[in-house]
Amino acid sequence: MKRHFDRDSLLRSIGLIEPGDLVTYHGSIPELHGLWLAIPCLCRLCTHADEMGLPVLRYHLIDPWEELSGPHHVRPESITRSAAS
Ligand SMILES: [Zn+2]
Repeated sequence: MKRHFDRDSLLRSIGLIEPGDLVTYHGSIPELHGLWLAIPCLCRLCTHADEMGLPVLRYHLIDPWEELSGPHHVRPESITRSAAS
């Protein structure tokens, strides 16, 4: 079987936040500080930067309970993996 090397395993190998991790947001928008589920931002802007080879790793945050959509393009520095996850 061919080894599948996708973005998820890449994230794991470099020890960053994995898609679906519970994180605490402490970035530039105080109203949004709190717990979120982090998934990779797959908007056109971020996907395009990725395809261009730019080291852009941004997250899209969703509400873990109501699955409401939160902020997009969140930088890794703005979130910390939650101890509760
Ligand atoms: Zn984005």
